Amino acid sequence: MKNINFIDLADQYQAYKTDVDQAIADVLNSGQFILGNEVKTFEQELSSFVGVAHTIGCANGTDALQLALMAIDIQPGDEVITSVFSFFAAAEVIALLGAIPVFVDVDEKTYNIDADKIAEKITSKTKAIVPVSLYGQTADMDKINAIAAQSGQQIYIIEDAAQSLGATYHGKQSGNLSTLATTSFFPSKPLGCYGDGGAVFSQDEALATKIRSLHRHGETKRYEHQYVGINSRLDAIQAAILRIKLQHFPEEIQQRQIAADRYQQLLQSDNMVLPYIAENCTSVYAQYSIRVPDRERVITELKQHDIPTAVHYPKPIHLQPCFAHLGYKPGDFPIAETTAEEIMSLPMSAFITAEQQQYIAEHLLKVVS
Ligand SMILES: *Cc1c(COP(=O)(O)O)cnc(C)c1O
Repeated sequence: MKNINFIDLADQYQAYKTDVDQAIADVLNSGQFILGNEVKTFEQELSSFVGVAHTIGCANGTDALQLALMAIDIQPGDEVITSVFSFFAAAEVIALLGAIPVFVDVDEKTYNIDADKIAEKITSKTKAIVPVSLYGQTADMDKINAIAAQSGQQIYIIEDAAQSLGATYHGKQSGNLSTLATTSFFPSKPLGCYGDGGAVFSQDEALATKIRSLHRHGETKRYEHQYVGINSRLDAIQAAILRIKLQHFPEEIQQRQIAADRYQQLLQSDNMVLPYIAENCTSVYAQYSIRVPDRERVITELKQHDIPTAVHYPKPIHLQPCFAHLGYKPGDFPIAETTAEEIMSLPMSAFITAEQQQYIAEHLLKVVS
């Protein structure tokens, strides 16, 4: 059996190597490295995959979130509601813009923002909600959209789809479930490039036009700056690589789901909690995350058998030192806090083999029993 990697990026490259190498060479020969045709074509292809009118490529998924918040004119002192248990980026860009991240606990089964706990956090200062679609499954977007609509004020929803691109919610694609959505092409994401990359999605033409300007210094035409923007562009080389990966993406999603089903069958045990996928939803399993008691021991013992694991994420965001001034304390978000103590992710990719999964399951079951 070959070595188990947490994510098999090298195997993926080998599978598409001829096409990827050619695409990179074509960009090098074209002399067009920033924006240009590759980026434009990729944006169009991704728009049709997601089902949105507009995709704007940018430098990474964090910038994509920042651009989305800038597009809706988030100002210092505004409040933006987001999940307390997630990757740091959403809370980070909210704070960077001088706005206040307002945290909500997560659902104990999906680990996504608990939609039932959002309404109580809405104030007259609330301008947006950023639900993060964690581990490859979307948040409960219909419910979240309805809460915003019922609030009687203008509240934008921005789905952070960095981990869920390719997942579906009631038949619709992640990224097409709210006014704005963002994603990341960081190499380990379900649709990754070979460096940094990201995108913003929208059906709204005015917002899309503004984001197209904001991501290039707020220019509306060359050297005419309508806004104070940022410099955040998708490289042509990354777009060319992404165009190839996008062709294989539906098949890779299927392979990831097959791998997840296999874990599901292999890992039946009273001593761990397996992923839960909500009704009418599919996951792309950006992570295959389970909960176990005594996690550190489990991780150590698996490592002794050359099984790599990861923890997404060991500390909920309200307890991060940089947000101490917000005044949250341990116990404020009990589900997030317990999850952070028990969660761990197993190796997952479209290229993991049944043999590798059997080996992982065998050792994992032994360790937790
Ligand atoms: C990876 C990730 C991001 C940030 O993407 P980058 O491209 O690394 O900036 C944002 N949100 C979530 C949920 C992520 O997983």
